[in-house]
Amino acid sequence: MELAQARSILTAATGFIKRGGFDWTCNPYVGCTFGCRYCYAMFLPQNRRPREDWGRWFQVKANAVELARRQAPRVAGQAVYMSSVTDPYQPVERALKLTRGILEALLPHQPRLVIQTRGPLVTRDADILARFGSVRVNLSIPTDDEEIRKAFEPKAPPLEARWEAARHLKSAGIPVGLCLTPLLPVADHAAFADRVAGFGAQVVVVQEFHDAPRGWGADTTDEAVGMARRFDPSGSGYLLMLRSFKDLGVDYHEGESGFFPPGSLGQGNSAG
Ligand code: SF4
Repeated sequence: MELAQARSILTAATGFIKRGGFDWTCNPYVGCTFGCRYCYAMFLPQNRRPREDWGRWFQVKANAVELARRQAPRVAGQAVYMSSVTDPYQPVERALKLTRGILEALLPHQPRLVIQTRGPLVTRDADILARFGSVRVNLSIPTDDEEIRKAFEPKAPPLEARWEAARHLKSAGIPVGLCLTPLLPVADHAAFADRVAGFGAQVVVVQEFHDAPRGWGADTTDEAVGMARRFDPSGSGYLLMLRSFKDLGVDYHEGESGFFPPGSLGQGNSAG
């Protein structure tokens, strides 16, 4: 674990995050020990380590909470995305509570907040999240198959733990987004779509595993692309997922259009 003194904890949004309607990003950590094999963040300039080392290190912004207390007034009422290059609920957060401290600092200023995570630890902070007037927790659940999850996200939490977290947050009155992003190989598209439909998420987002040719979709590793081809040789999984959503009338968003702040709900795709 490395400790660093950050210059800022709330950074003006750029690129697709800004296009999505966010004003600020907030990353309590650099690096992510969930270490997903496809993670786009390893390609971003914030990663100054070899890509092969992604998932084996993280840096803590030791002054994150102090900075958040100082900077929070400037994000009042604005859209904040937490986090863009790390997971705010990776394991170290349990002890360090930087994400929780930042939320406490933001609360009086009521930004429009989106939390993006694979970490069920987010339920620990349900008491604070429920006090934001405009908030959504996006839980990434990109497959229905635990073996696929272990192959692509070996150090991330099991899928059922994420579903349980989603249920917990929803029952606490906190809007939940379900992110099938990037969509990994799926065992049973119809059953997965049915489960997603039955949950009643505020937003459902699906994103093709590797979609750079159409201009959306971050870089991913050749290793991950090769794995996806082995599990889904025909490459038809994404279209099967969309068809299953349409069959059930699920109002889903594809890729970029699904990542928008609460209060600026875009037009989704549904049966028709
Ligand atoms: S949890 Fe998110 S930030 Fe962390 S490795 Fe996986 S995709 Fe990357």
